[in-house]
Amino acid sequence: MANSYKPEWVPEGGGAEFASKVMNGVEDIQPKKANIVTVKASKLTKDDYVQGILEGDRMLLSRAITLIESNAPKHFGIAQEIVQAVLPYTGKAVRVGITGVPGAGKSSFIETLGSNLCSQGKKVAVLAVDPSSTVSKGSILGDKTRMENLSRQKSAFIRPSPSGGTLGGVTRKSRETILLCEAAGYDTILVETVGVGQGETTVRSMVDFFLLVTITGAGDELQGIKKGIIELADAILVNKADGNNTQRALATKTEYNQILHYLRPATEGWTTQAYTCSAHENTGINEIWAVIETFIDAMNSNGRLIERRRQQRWQWVQDMVWQHVQSYIEGNDGFQKGLQQMENKLLTEEITATMAAKSLIEIVEHELGKN
Ligand code: GDP
Repeated sequence: MANSYKPEWVPEGGGAEFASKVMNGVEDIQPKKANIVTVKASKLTKDDYVQGILEGDRMLLSRAITLIESNAPKHFGIAQEIVQAVLPYTGKAVRVGITGVPGAGKSSFIETLGSNLCSQGKKVAVLAVDPSSTVSKGSILGDKTRMENLSRQKSAFIRPSPSGGTLGGVTRKSRETILLCEAAGYDTILVETVGVGQGETTVRSMVDFFLLVTITGAGDELQGIKKGIIELADAILVNKADGNNTQRALATKTEYNQILHYLRPATEGWTTQAYTCSAHENTGINEIWAVIETFIDAMNSNGRLIERRRQQRWQWVQDMVWQHVQSYIEGNDGFQKGLQQMENKLLTEEITATMAAKSLIEIVEHELGKN
């Protein structure tokens, strides 16, 4: 089991708090620098990590990401120092989010696209975001059979989803991992959402371009995908346009284009359109990349990309603060007692909803006022 495998970069004494799982065959293929690998992670200084990352050392990059993913308080400080130190070297990559229902072909698409980009001389980092992953369940990307070709490429770096416990935890870890990968010279960051329904907005909030991978379905084609997710997308890609499915895929593309016509585009100044591709046959893949490049060029020249990233960063700060405030209040005994009382009173119709809320707000104000 991947879960019981302890990566060699886990710091001395590190254990279960290391949430990440290892994809055998990915890290293993990396050229190892004997001098650094044999150093126990706990002996490495911030400067060792920073220098290694800036030199593109994959082992040190992996170890630094592990520190970011750690839920142990002792790793938090050094992880933040590393992120802070590499910050000036970040931001140069194209960040693309990829979503779609399981089975749509996201990982096949990433495998083909990533391999194409590597052969064009690009450095590609693939990250997964799986808000539902826990230490015990493991993540889909931890399965080494996925993206086998890409994982063998020297210029590709694949990292399974951190398991943060909370959506906020996964978000922070993934965002900081993006920054470290950029500092390590990865010019293309592909972020895959794993699972449906939770990760889409999160991933949208950390990328420049958001791609929805979909397929032709039986019967009512578009039922499976919520309108809300279509509205987040900068392009819709109908995969598996091959063999006798080609015509149906083209028809699905047309249907999406008709729907998109009535929706507000996810990015102001850009028209979201549908395209087809076959990840298996490597058709339509370079074309969708050309669309992404056109998007990035346009958004760079009108300043919207910088603005989007600025807003994303500021939103992130606010999210972190609100998450903290929420968990602080939720953890308060007085508040928990009040919640129970109000629920009972509400059930027995002793109190109106507004009065119940007012009482709880008073408890919050009282508890916050104590500090
Ligand atoms: P994911 O769950 O969205 O990551 O989907 P996968 O990449 O695991 O693909 C799901 C299934 O669809 C697998 O059996 C793939 O072999 C198949 N598949 C993926 N892409 C294509 C394609 O372009 N054409 C065809 N015919 N099958 C594909």
